[in-house]
Amino acid sequence: MAIREIHEQLINKEVSAIELASRCLDRIEQEEIHAFLSVDRRSALAQAKAVDAAIANKENISILAGIPCSIKDAILVEGMPCTAASKTLEHYVAPYEATCVQKLRAQGAVFLGKTNMDEFGMGASTENSAFGPTRNPIDPSRVPGGSSGGSAAAVAAQESVFALGEDTGGSIRLPAAFCGIVGLKPTYGSVSRSGVISLASSLDQVGPFASSVEDVKLIFETIRGRDANDATTVEYAPAVSFKGNIKNLRVGVPQEYFAEGLDPAVEKAVRDIIGKLEKAGAKIREIRLPHTKYALAVYYIINTSEASANLARYDGMRYGLRVPAKTLEQSYLKNRGEGLGTEVKRRIMLGTYALSAGYYDAYYLKAQKVRRLLKQDFEKAFESVDVILGPTSPVVPFKLGERMTDPLAMYLVDIYTVPVNLAGLPALSVPAGSVDRLPAGQAGLPVGLHLISKPFDEQTLFETGTIIEQIR
Ligand code: GLN
Repeated sequence: MAIREIHEQLINKEVSAIELASRCLDRIEQEEIHAFLSVDRRSALAQAKAVDAAIANKENISILAGIPCSIKDAILVEGMPCTAASKTLEHYVAPYEATCVQKLRAQGAVFLGKTNMDEFGMGASTENSAFGPTRNPIDPSRVPGGSSGGSAAAVAAQESVFALGEDTGGSIRLPAAFCGIVGLKPTYGSVSRSGVISLASSLDQVGPFASSVEDVKLIFETIRGRDANDATTVEYAPAVSFKGNIKNLRVGVPQEYFAEGLDPAVEKAVRDIIGKLEKAGAKIREIRLPHTKYALAVYYIINTSEASANLARYDGMRYGLRVPAKTLEQSYLKNRGEGLGTEVKRRIMLGTYALSAGYYDAYYLKAQKVRRLLKQDFEKAFESVDVILGPTSPVVPFKLGERMTDPLAMYLVDIYTVPVNLAGLPALSVPAGSVDRLPAGQAGLPVGLHLISKPFDEQTLFETGTIIEQIR
């Protein structure tokens, strides 16, 4: 059900906030997909009770009041555990609250718990969680995508009405695509990262998951805006390039997003939507984003470099697991050696190397220069189109274990999503149909359609996304 409908039912007393929260909590208790790392039944029910009391008092309640939600375990909810799915933070409890969570709390949203993820956001399948993987609710033998896989799975399995995730290179859009729901990665600087565990600070952005574009828009409008605690945030001023009549919509289809490695069934689902858009009157234009081929290399240099710096704080002194040791050096080695997982260590080593004297110019600096070229590709494209369209992922949800032994195969899943983070742009993944890979009689595997727009033009994404929901 859409948030608006639930809200109507709440104020008409057809359902209570307590009933809503209990239904979600019961589903979470029975689930086998492991979407949650921690659940706080008591505080969720207390919040719901307060909303019911406000309704009984005939107070005006916000549209989000009493709506059950879940939060990626990299985002601090005061008093709840916050582990980033890492052993090093296993016993860490958030001493304060992320700004985005404060904003939801102020509207009366009900927090059910914290969702599973790849450790520190490093991964595309949620298999890099130190506490075991999440499974895809559509086919539990497959991954839900990552790194915010728990958030997407919780919404898809109707354990939560909406969820927050974090996207550094695709971590909201990929799981949204794999779980058949909607996910938004907002413009860099539009949502505060205060109280969010950092992966790569020049790329990270918080955003919502929900089952419709309308709901995602509602959450985004609640959490965005300038925050004194995050100097990269700005006062949100929409830069709308398209509104209203589909005949005025100019859609760019980049050649580079339909290249080698794209599953033909995914391509077909996306081309079907393009055909329908064209039939409905949208202007479809083939465009070029010539530097796309460098995006993955650039991303993995910048991501690992920034991660290596950000993760230096998990030394067991101020934060993280502390293992008994005889000397200070041994203590560092043991704390980090035992507290951090394989992928995290791999990235710290790669990033430390890329930033080290003698290699900095050849790797980090060079990557920053190519990043500029990628950004310019988009700027040029947006001179003639309102929105860019392609697949969110080149593949359908894969089986658990399938890509775990080959980090490069896992990195390739992000090929279409990372350019957006490098350029600081907003992007939306919306369901684009499904592919038959399951035994007859079962639902197909979902395909996600990726829409990209100019900075601060989320509105065009929502308009286009809504059109796609309708024509499907
Ligand atoms: N899969 C990408 C990575 O491993 C994206 C991660 C993210 O967006 N947090 O870096």
